[in-house]
Amino acid sequence: MRDHDAERAGRVDRRGFLGAGVGAVAAAGVLAEGRPVAARQQAGGEPAASAPLAKRKLGKTGVEVTMLNIGTWRSSGVERLLRFAWANGVRYIDTAKSYGTEPAIGRWLQAVPEARKELFLVTKDHPRSPRELVAQLDQRLAALKTDYVDLIFIHAMGDHDFATEVRWPASAEFKAAAEAIRKSGKARFVGFSTHHPQRPEILQAAVKGGFVDVIMLQNNPWIAQEDAMNRALDACHKAGIGLISMKQVAGNMKLDEIARRLPELKEKNLTPYQALLHAIWTDERFSSVCVSMRNTDQIRENADAARRFQPMPKSAMLRLRDACIAAGPTMCASCDGRCSRAAGTDAELGNLTRLLTYHEHHGYRAEARRLYGEMAGSARDWKGADLEAARAACPNKLDFASLLPRADELLG
Ligand code: SF4
Repeated sequence: MRDHDAERAGRVDRRGFLGAGVGAVAAAGVLAEGRPVAARQQAGGEPAASAPLAKRKLGKTGVEVTMLNIGTWRSSGVERLLRFAWANGVRYIDTAKSYGTEPAIGRWLQAVPEARKELFLVTKDHPRSPRELVAQLDQRLAALKTDYVDLIFIHAMGDHDFATEVRWPASAEFKAAAEAIRKSGKARFVGFSTHHPQRPEILQAAVKGGFVDVIMLQNNPWIAQEDAMNRALDACHKAGIGLISMKQVAGNMKLDEIARRLPELKEKNLTPYQALLHAIWTDERFSSVCVSMRNTDQIRENADAARRFQPMPKSAMLRLRDACIAAGPTMCASCDGRCSRAAGTDAELGNLTRLLTYHEHHGYRAEARRLYGEMAGSARDWKGADLEAARAACPNKLDFASLLPRADELLG
């Protein structure tokens, strides 16, 4: 995400804000490698500790979580980022076995054990069957050097074998595993994450099963309003399943263009990213938003957005959507894969644009090429596809005719 980071960082620096509501909070004062936070601020120029960000209830768990949480996917300098996030009011950390950040989070927790009580800590793993999650949880706790997490997710439900995994959230096996985990006290709550295109079905299965506490899902404010997704979110919310939004801003890389189209953002001193966050928080079915924050400017920008959140009127939401689409998003928002159907191809058009974005904008070149190499030949072969029809069908109006040749060139 380097280009993108630089762009965001530039904007934030120009604006020069620090998170509002800066004030001393005793709990935050300990989070500075054993030194009082004030001493660390003098030494390292870090921000004054601020009060926790606003919290929302996480479904029927009854627990309140900060509306912004820090995703730690393959982050470097995690301990510094955690200190900074904490100082900016973030009290919810998201990790996973595959992120590689659990050991660093464990070190941070060991350095500041006082933080644990106030922290909501989430990790994930990829079991081959739900019962395997019980043993995997022990490994995750060992990696995190803690004796409990607040929430354990099955990671990326539906991705490995959709036909099987879509049944898990209503299965007796997952129910028994979830009950055993909660009873052990090693995780207070159990759920799953998903970005599968058919995630409305997976969500509905969780409603039917009635034992999943929390779901984290790929979301964007426009797709959340589409029929199947809207119904699934409503059903989860009504059933008391806590909902976390993720990957909501991916692909909106042309920030200057979005800002140019929305002069009202400047008047409100909001960046396009902050406006996108406000659009997501306006949907009160979501308790928190997981954002992968890789530098201190992003943390500051996002925490500031949380502190200045005001529900967005529908007209403003529509203008934001139109500006994002007109600016030309590069990445799939992962709806139900209607692009490929409209184009009459087996190629996974959405996945190809996602990997191109990893390569071009996120800086994960080797990873993007590796994932591309793992795709079946038919999933990569978009030749003969009706790309105009695909674009017309896509809710984000991805310009496949220009994106896919670049994907071939850079990833192949
Ligand atoms: S239609 Fe657009 S958002 Fe939906 S899967 Fe295809 S590229 Fe992704």
